[in-house]
Amino acid sequence: MSLDAQRVKKDFPILETLAHGKRLVYLDSAATSQKPRAVIDRMVRFYEEENANVHRGIYELGEKATAAYEGAREASARFIGARSTRSIVFTKGTTESINLVRYTWARANVHEGDEVLVTEMEHHSNLIPWQLLCAETGATLRHLPIDDDGKLRIDLLGEYLTDRTKLVGMSLMSNVLGTINPVRTVADAAHAVGARILVDAAQAAPHLSFDVNDLDCDFLAFSAHKMCGPTGAGLLYGREDLLEEMPPFHGGGEMIREVWADHATWAEIPQKFEAGTPNIAQVVGMGAAIEYLEDLGMDAVREHEMQLTKYALDRIFSIGATIYGPMDVHDRGSVVSFNLEEVHPHDMATIVDQEGVCIRAGHHCAQPLMRKLGVPATARASFYIYNTEEDVDALIDALEKSKGWFI
Ligand code: PLP
Repeated sequence: MSLDAQRVKKDFPILETLAHGKRLVYLDSAATSQKPRAVIDRMVRFYEEENANVHRGIYELGEKATAAYEGAREASARFIGARSTRSIVFTKGTTESINLVRYTWARANVHEGDEVLVTEMEHHSNLIPWQLLCAETGATLRHLPIDDDGKLRIDLLGEYLTDRTKLVGMSLMSNVLGTINPVRTVADAAHAVGARILVDAAQAAPHLSFDVNDLDCDFLAFSAHKMCGPTGAGLLYGREDLLEEMPPFHGGGEMIREVWADHATWAEIPQKFEAGTPNIAQVVGMGAAIEYLEDLGMDAVREHEMQLTKYALDRIFSIGATIYGPMDVHDRGSVVSFNLEEVHPHDMATIVDQEGVCIRAGHHCAQPLMRKLGVPATARASFYIYNTEEDVDALIDALEKSKGWFI
């Protein structure tokens, strides 16, 4: 079943609004996606008809709230192929999920002299926590290089993975280069040296169909807000045996079994990691977003984005831009970072904004990658289910204008 982006567009109320009096052309979904009516309505319905705290009320309303919240856990597990909802810990997003692993599993398992391996294309979210961990423990942080096409140097894995490596942190899809990384290959190599692998799926989850068992990852994180859901919700998938043995993250209500004045025992997973009142309506909204994407079909989403990205790459290239990352759409997702020689990316973003076109400009929370590319910043257009060739054309027309400003 193919995806009809013109029809999908109608599901997103914000896309009917204007920007500077022009049709809104939203090309910044890698930063955060827009929200379909189905998700907005689901959250409103939760507040209007089901709102109560979860896992507490023995009254009917409390049970409804808990059912809605736990329903989102079932949808999340199904979406990524997790065998059990016990593997799904709700967090406020990717950053919190990665930090959870840093403060729990990593603190208990990474020591002086050990190594943590990340890649040269990581978002700061999957870099700074490991810098902090290494500073705290005396472990060494290493970076698997990328090649000139923006692909990982898998040929160097043998050199970078050693018997001292305890953890590999890598993204499934880059938020700058769009590169889709061979996680399974790295997972097999990491496991062969006794290391664990954490996958940052912030950019992958909205666009690609994947299964945590096929990836054979130990941990995986993503955020709802990049995949049609609200801000304030996301998840950490963890292998059950690892979650079981990990110490808790935050302490407080709901994560305990029994509490005495001076000590306590912990609840079963995943509650052990969900202290306090969670972002209930947001998690319910995340469940609705997953159902919305499932209805479209993730294969149809990917197919649509491959076609649109190919069109965008050709058109952006045709105006003389330098494009970063792989040019073959089989190797990349729908994030296109580029520069125009004579125009600063910030000027580009400001000028195209006047035409109603939203793109991002900057270092995209990946400063070491910018240094590697030899640029301070890039412009970035990122496409999603509601974007069409017409949107790409609007971007190109607006970029042509931005070039005109500087000639
Ligand atoms: N990782 C990647 C690859 C991202 O693109 C982002 C967000 O841009 C994050 C992590 C952080 O996500 P969040 O800000 O939702 O925690």
